[in-house]
Amino acid sequence: MTMNDSKTSPDAFRIVIVGGGIAGLCAAIALRGPNREILILEQSSLLREVGAAISLQPNASKILENSWGLGDRIPSSKKVVDHGFRIYSIDGQLVKDIPLVKKREYGADRVIYHRQDLHSMLKAAATSSDLPGKPAELRLSSRVIDADCEAGIVFLSDGTSVSGDLVVGADGIHSKLRTAVLGKIQNAIPTGVSAYRLMMPIEKLQGSEFATKINPAEPFTSMMMGHDRRLVMGPCRGTEDYAIVALVPDKTLDVDTSKTTWNTEASLDEVEKAFDVFPRWVTSIFQHSPAIGLWQLRDLDPLERWHRGRVILIGDASHAMLPTQGQGASQSVEDAEALGAFFEDVGSRTGAEAVERRFADVVRCRYERACLIQEYSRNAAKPATAQGAEGRSKVTLTTTEFMDYNCTYNGAKDWQRAAGVQQEVGGS
Ligand SMILES: Cc1cc2nc3c(=O)[nH]c(=O)nc-3n(C[C@H](O)[C@H](O)[C@H](O)COP(=O)(O)OP(=O)(O)OC[C@H]3O[C@@H](n4cnc5c(N)ncnc54)[C@H](O)[C@@H]3O)c2cc1C
Repeated sequence: MTMNDSKTSPDAFRIVIVGGGIAGLCAAIALRGPNREILILEQSSLLREVGAAISLQPNASKILENSWGLGDRIPSSKKVVDHGFRIYSIDGQLVKDIPLVKKREYGADRVIYHRQDLHSMLKAAATSSDLPGKPAELRLSSRVIDADCEAGIVFLSDGTSVSGDLVVGADGIHSKLRTAVLGKIQNAIPTGVSAYRLMMPIEKLQGSEFATKINPAEPFTSMMMGHDRRLVMGPCRGTEDYAIVALVPDKTLDVDTSKTTWNTEASLDEVEKAFDVFPRWVTSIFQHSPAIGLWQLRDLDPLERWHRGRVILIGDASHAMLPTQGQGASQSVEDAEALGAFFEDVGSRTGAEAVERRFADVVRCRYERACLIQEYSRNAAKPATAQGAEGRSKVTLTTTEFMDYNCTYNGAKDWQRAAGVQQEVGGS
């Protein structure tokens, strides 16, 4: 593809992406190509986000860096290459040190980003003119309320509608397009756990008692485990910020967590109270977080289907999972790459049947893997009760085997070849 392939003709392949989160923006990047028009409809104005870190695992880093060439778009000083996990007891003793040493085998690193940095970079890549194909158009404050899947039409809350040859439902955990694809409502299930998110400047921690036990500038993910609650902590933006995810059972909180949205703010008192069984040298650092977010963790049972007519679901809309494996966003990146791979040869208006055949290829390649990781993420949160729950497949892999399973992924077509998955149509 060349830089002058951004002109489109009247018969251009029209792609509508609902949702401008990580999944939607990655889909726009992966689907850019000659004679394609891409429109992203995002309900929000994308202005507000309580600070939080997000990790991309080696399986997603490989796609972002090697397949899409976006590795340098966030400078090294603004990301952290994670060297491993350190697990501490509540009194600050290091009880387990698990190095992440397999870069050579996995082909890329586990990289921690500030959510805003990752999101802004993906937005710029999707809409910039320096990548192949016509830049995607991002339309903000555009809320989709329903879809006619067979016709490829989405209906917006302002009474307008938009149609596409390919419609991607990347509208997150409360997806409207999921309802349209399934023909019924399937809501995400509360897991009984909520997460506070905090982020503070590392310089505020220098000289603190905390820093004498856990060096906040070292590139490690530190976990401090209590009986029914835990802290997951690590540096973000190089050595600029320190991010904490604080997991607590819902039932112990005074707030109604079922009403939380990603941007729900919590008070310092609340999070300090939730962690009052932890020593003061740990909880005293919470005060340095300028804002605190609270989000009830939910996941989905595997859906009966991911596509109908011209619409396919990706990301949290199709397989919302718990953050215990840090794979939610990484699986969204894999979904996007798979769409790009199986639609690679399409450069003009395409009939519904041809679109559906390609969807079938995407799902054959992605469904089992994403559902297994979803299941494993659920089991890792509730090992005593969730394993082998009725009607669910039982996960038999060990943690190390699972890490290998997660991270040795090299893109949809490679996975398809390795797994011997039969392909419906030639993708290239
Ligand atoms: C505490 C926590 C920590 C996590 N940490 C990690 C991690 O370290 N690594 C990891 O890989 N994953 C992590 N995850 C999971 C990860 O954040 C999600 O899996 C990922 O963001 C999903 O992206 P998405 O684009 O599918 O959904 P979202 O990020 O929810 O994006 C959906 C977008 O669609 C828009 N939208 C919604 N409805 C409509 C509509 N009707 N019309 C138009 N637009 C709409 C929304 O405004 C939003 O912009 C974490 C999750 C939590 C809760």
